[in-house]
Amino acid sequence: MRRIGFAVLGLSLAGFSLWGSAADGQVPAANKAVLGAWGVDLSGMDRNVKPGDDFFRYVNGAWFDTAEIPPDRTTTGSFVQLDIQSETRVRSILSELEARGANLSAEERQVRDLYASYVDTDRVERLGLEPARRDLAAIAGLRTHEDVARAMASPELGTESIFDVRIGVDDKNPDAYAVFVRQSGLGLPDRDYYRLDEKGIVAAREKYRTYIAEMLRLGGVPDQAATAKAEAIFKLETEIAEIHWSRADRRDADKTYNPMRASELAQFAPDFPWAAHLRESGIPNPSAGERQVIISEKSAFPGLASLFARTPVDLWRDYLTFHYLSGHAAYLPKRFDDARFEFYGKVLGGQREQLARDKRGVRFVGGMMGENVGRLYVARYFPADAKAKAQDLVRNLLDVYRQRIQTADWMSPETRRQALEKVGTFSVKIGYPDNWRDYSALRVDPADLLGNQARGSRFEWNRRLVRLDQPVDRSEWGMSPQTVNAYYNSSLNEIVFPAGILQPPFFDPNADPAVNYGGIGAVIGHEISHGFDDQGSKYDAEGVLRNWWTEADRRNFDGRTTALVDQFAGYTPVPGLSVNGRLTLGENIADLAGLTVSHAAYHLSLKGAQPPVLDGFTGDQRIFLGYAQVWRFKAREETLRQRVLSDPHSPPEFRINGAVRNVDAWYDAMGVAPGDKLYLAPSSRVRLW
Ligand SMILES: [Zn+2]
Repeated sequence: MRRIGFAVLGLSLAGFSLWGSAADGQVPAANKAVLGAWGVDLSGMDRNVKPGDDFFRYVNGAWFDTAEIPPDRTTTGSFVQLDIQSETRVRSILSELEARGANLSAEERQVRDLYASYVDTDRVERLGLEPARRDLAAIAGLRTHEDVARAMASPELGTESIFDVRIGVDDKNPDAYAVFVRQSGLGLPDRDYYRLDEKGIVAAREKYRTYIAEMLRLGGVPDQAATAKAEAIFKLETEIAEIHWSRADRRDADKTYNPMRASELAQFAPDFPWAAHLRESGIPNPSAGERQVIISEKSAFPGLASLFARTPVDLWRDYLTFHYLSGHAAYLPKRFDDARFEFYGKVLGGQREQLARDKRGVRFVGGMMGENVGRLYVARYFPADAKAKAQDLVRNLLDVYRQRIQTADWMSPETRRQALEKVGTFSVKIGYPDNWRDYSALRVDPADLLGNQARGSRFEWNRRLVRLDQPVDRSEWGMSPQTVNAYYNSSLNEIVFPAGILQPPFFDPNADPAVNYGGIGAVIGHEISHGFDDQGSKYDAEGVLRNWWTEADRRNFDGRTTALVDQFAGYTPVPGLSVNGRLTLGENIADLAGLTVSHAAYHLSLKGAQPPVLDGFTGDQRIFLGYAQVWRFKAREETLRQRVLSDPHSPPEFRINGAVRNVDAWYDAMGVAPGDKLYLAPSSRVRLW
């Protein structure tokens, strides 16, 4: 059930505090590109920099020097601008629903009421901790380890667990859903936050302890006791972190596929009450035989189970109380929300100000019923012909891929045959789903924010539960249409492009085609390439995880990608913290291959015609300008640190510089020569397709 997005996915921890305000995107005059005269904002360039020394700065330097990160955001750049636009549009839809009052469809009413419950902060303040009383009492009433395991599994309670149960498509049988269990249980973004001694990490760790104590205090624990409990919780999480697998290992599709029957799991990691945990999750027994589960970080399971058993119940109660309050802070009075922002927003993200409540309400509604919102969004903001245009581009890119596989000199006929079969079976989703998700069973009460949250979690979990033992729904979307992102799903061998990303600077029907190939073309190429990255290449044309490569081909491919691991490990976005070459390998492969293939697709589209020179830039140059413009980006150091430690995508500066220096055509187009800082000798360039 691997699904990999194009850009950073809202870091779940700081997720609901990342977004903010701006004006809607300007409406372009007919036939006029939105950016510059033909799609690139040339005023953002720094022409004093040689492209071969720093291509990021050459294209984005002037912009970078003056760009300011809004105080309620942690980054700025092309992506954030589109996110802000999408958010502003949804906000205006919500205003319209509010204004229309009674005259609403059932779906519209649900959206409006859910939003209303979120922005009614007077009511939240007045109710205080009352709506949470029952949950907190339930946690306080836990008496046995079995009680704790049940509380960890409860979707309504929505607190933390050391094991995370999911339902997804079975990697070795893409026609069926399976139960997956993964390691979990940390409040900091990654195990490295508990282990490394880089100064920013040490500072974050210290403030996390203060934060735990503060949350407990707000929840009614007396001062001194809160400090002592916080120490114990932090120590417990540190022990969990010591057992956890690294993120790089967790990307490995083979290592993380460990099927066993529930009874075998109970023997393998005997110190955890699996039966109680799975029963509380509601996992049904199959009609015949025993339920199988697929566990991810296999060697961590016995250790986590044993830590679970030897940790006293009263410490687990404190741990669950803290995580309940922290996880629900946005639905509780402002003092909780503020405390959470101080840590997750300011300390971990470098965000200066909390985002306005209405903008956060947009995120909340999108998170819980994204397709109800998306349906209203595409009706207003997704032009009918955009889908057809994007489909043409996808077809071109797939054609080039087919040619590249056909001519790759390092691939044997046997592997080639199966790779071609895989390219031939890609399915493509563009814009929005054919079948909209039905939320009618979700009861929304405009006067009950916390209850809405609990019912929303239960609704989503039930939606997944009922699918077990049912055929796989191939029409389902993993992102809502208003999302500015794209993804590849290896089990369904599908690439998905929501309406939100089919806009400038990625895609502008009025821009020069070369710029679109550098933008959305490279995005499409990126997603196709995930089917052939270090992990995606382990899935065959049917989406089955199995080795279909000959040994020599796999060795050859791994040799090429290892060189990419080493290149990226040499980049240091934050002093003392380098890019993790293994963690980011799949994304770096996808960027490099996507750009290479998109460049070729542009040439194919010219059908032999000579493209014009625009403002002194050739067609090839405009592809690379368009590519680099997409990754215009500036971030607070705290956010950069968090991403380096937890995001499989490299920071944008290296998605530009780290990719182009391996592309032969970039050297020709930009006149890059030995002596330039990004120059790589032809023999050192990584070539995949
Ligand atoms: Zn990707």
